[in-house]
Amino acid sequence: MRSTSRRAAALIAGAAITSTLLAQSVAAGPPRDEQSTARPAIAVGAPKVAGLPSTTRHAGHTCFGQTDNPHNSRHFPGDVSVSSRTVCPPHAVTVTVWLYKRVNGSWRLLDTGRNSGVGRTQANAHGRCGRRGTTHRFRGIGYHTATGHVPAWTRNARTVTCR
Ligand SMILES: [Zn+2]
Repeated sequence: MRSTSRRAAALIAGAAITSTLLAQSVAAGPPRDEQSTARPAIAVGAPKVAGLPSTTRHAGHTCFGQTDNPHNSRHFPGDVSVSSRTVCPPHAVTVTVWLYKRVNGSWRLLDTGRNSGVGRTQANAHGRCGRRGTTHRFRGIGYHTATGHVPAWTRNARTVTCR
């Protein structure tokens, strides 16, 4: 009786670990695609803000990733920029952000930014908007990690009139 329930517990634990690993490998796969000129299909439907659920029992803190609207840059005249951040105190965190521009029906990668830190980190990406007065679609995609938490994707798109 006891060994049966122990076996059942082991099976349940195994299933939980398998599904966690599956979720992580799915989340960890896409960056290579993001760096190509291919459409970043993996982040389709990703929200602007996403929670990073804990993979073990952590209490008393909430973790999230967030990608802001792409917008005309103040620091780099003529550029569009996007920011993305990961917030997860007290853990080690990373963020990667990709900025895309819609060109002739496909998403062109303009820039990539990365950063890491403890508790909170932010990264920016920026690139040429286009001729002044023209209007284009831009998309930022963020990938967020924190120790002990499941990684998450976020994204945010905006139509920008170039300055
Ligand atoms: Zn935690």
